Amino acid sequence: MSTIYIKGVTLGKEIKDILIEGNKIAAIEDKLDSIPDNCRTIDGTSKAVFPGFVNMHTHSAMTLTRGYKEDTSLQEWLQEIWKVEAKMDEEAIYWGTKLACLEMIKTGTTSFYDQYWMIDSAVKAVEEMGIRGWHACVALNLKDESRSQAIKEEIIAAYERSQKWNERCRMSVGVHAPYTVSDELIQWCSSFAREKGLTVHIHMSETEQENIDSQNLNGCSPFEHLERLGVLGPEVIAAHCVWLSENDINIMAKYGVTAVHNINSNLKLASGSRFLYNELRDKGVRVCLGTDGCGSSNNLDMRETMKTAALLQKGWRRDPSAFKLQELMQAATASGAEALGLDAGELAVGKLADLILVDTDNYAFVPQLDLVSNFVYSANSSCVDTVICNGEIVMENRVVPDEKEILENARRICNKLYNN
Ligand SMILES: [Zn+2]
Repeated sequence: MSTIYIKGVTLGKEIKDILIEGNKIAAIEDKLDSIPDNCRTIDGTSKAVFPGFVNMHTHSAMTLTRGYKEDTSLQEWLQEIWKVEAKMDEEAIYWGTKLACLEMIKTGTTSFYDQYWMIDSAVKAVEEMGIRGWHACVALNLKDESRSQAIKEEIIAAYERSQKWNERCRMSVGVHAPYTVSDELIQWCSSFAREKGLTVHIHMSETEQENIDSQNLNGCSPFEHLERLGVLGPEVIAAHCVWLSENDINIMAKYGVTAVHNINSNLKLASGSRFLYNELRDKGVRVCLGTDGCGSSNNLDMRETMKTAALLQKGWRRDPSAFKLQELMQAATASGAEALGLDAGELAVGKLADLILVDTDNYAFVPQLDLVSNFVYSANSSCVDTVICNGEIVMENRVVPDEKEILENARRICNKLYNN
């Protein structure tokens, strides 16, 4: 069992010693009286500690599509991106996920909620990189029932294999979206997830057109449709939720559905910008933050996501008190952990040791009146210095093992995807 002693680190407005034993935070004290023998010591001078970010919606291997087909709408972009994705094999998923993990570690993320194909290759990458991944095996039949059986078999087989994954990786059931998956398959995914105790990862109400189409096809909104199908519950984690009616929000609250706000992706694809954070919060709906995949958000930087989300809320509401720093931090850390059933996301004794150390010895932290403000509004993510996940150091002094190898292989794969 490894032991890590973080000596004299800034936690909020105080200086603390933190002791990590095994995979948990064992002590947080002003000054630790006794330090166990043979523990690894990290000097916390000029460093601040935060919980690791929980990125609640991404498609990690899509890092390989970063920058492809810029300046197009979601529907146009999806058609193009699906052509590239059709060329991705297990090796591409593996190196694409490695590249994503590298970026997430460098920007302070310790857990992420993924939705992609060939999840075993992604899991192999995550197991090696040292962070946590929830992998939604995705159902997408384009409403063609003849495809459903193979998808169900794949999800069942993935579940069987997931029993052998290490403790940092978990299986989830992905439903791409109500407009790409038939009702029958959505219901099957829901009952499979409930039977096995898995979360359901679904894109919901991302564009206005999706809601118009749902009204035309089903006579109701996407959330109302899922309610009629009987598939809503606390296991459902809904990405986007940009176009919500008051009734949609009531439905989400009634069933305990989690909303994931992916502002950079929504802005870039011009899907919408008026995410109803206050309205969701006031009805008791859990709101988390995500980046979405790099195809649409171009990076996996949760700190940048926090800043954009807050600025947008303040801007369109014309309310400078909208999306306060503490709420932002909660949405980027503890709320995601809670939605996934992970005992992390906050710095407290007994919690899993998923935390990051930020270098404060630079202009962005002078003056240091509010650490979260410095980190979110003034710094960039290159201040993330050290990342610990599950009690293990995955980056120290900004060094991630194998970084060069990951970049070389990701470039090699991209060469195959785009030049053949
Ligand atoms: Zn997505």
